[in-house]
Amino acid sequence: MNIEELMEKFPMAFKHADISFPDGWKQIVEDCLTMMLHRTQWYDKAKDDLDAVQGNYIEIHQIKEKFGGLRVYSSIVNDPCDYQGNSISDRLMEQTCGILRFAEYLSKKTCQVCGERGTLRTTRPYIETLCDEHDRARSNPT
Ligand SMILES: [Zn+2]
Repeated sequence: MNIEELMEKFPMAFKHADISFPDGWKQIVEDCLTMMLHRTQWYDKAKDDLDAVQGNYIEIHQIKEKFGGLRVYSSIVNDPCDYQGNSISDRLMEQTCGILRFAEYLSKKTCQVCGERGTLRTTRPYIETLCDEHDRARSNPT
C-alpha cells in the first residue's frame, strides 16, 4: 500500500505523525509501514470488528532521514492483548523494532534521490546514501 492509502486505512496510527523523508526511500517506507501496521490485525481477532481496530496498537511519531539512514519513530499504544487477555506489548515492540532496523539497513543501501542501489557517502559534511550518478552530481554541481 502507498502512504496515502495507509493513512486513510489507519488514521489513528498517523494522527500525530511528522513525516518527511527523501523520495528515493518511498518504497522502503511504504513496505515497512505496511508490515508494521498489518501485523497488528493478527492480534485483533478476539474482537468482532476487524476494520475498526486494525492499526490501533502502533502510533507513528516521526519518519525522517538522519546520517544517511531512514529513521522511523513509533510506539505501542492501547495495550494489545492475545486471546487470553495477556499483554503482548513487549512482543509487538520487538517485532516492530526488527522491521524498523531492517528498513534502516535497506535505506543505507538505497539512493535517497532515485531509489537505485546506493552507498553511504561520508566524505561531504552532510552524510547521504547515494548511487554513483547522484554522488557525482553532488560533487560537481552544475
Ligand atoms: Zn541515485
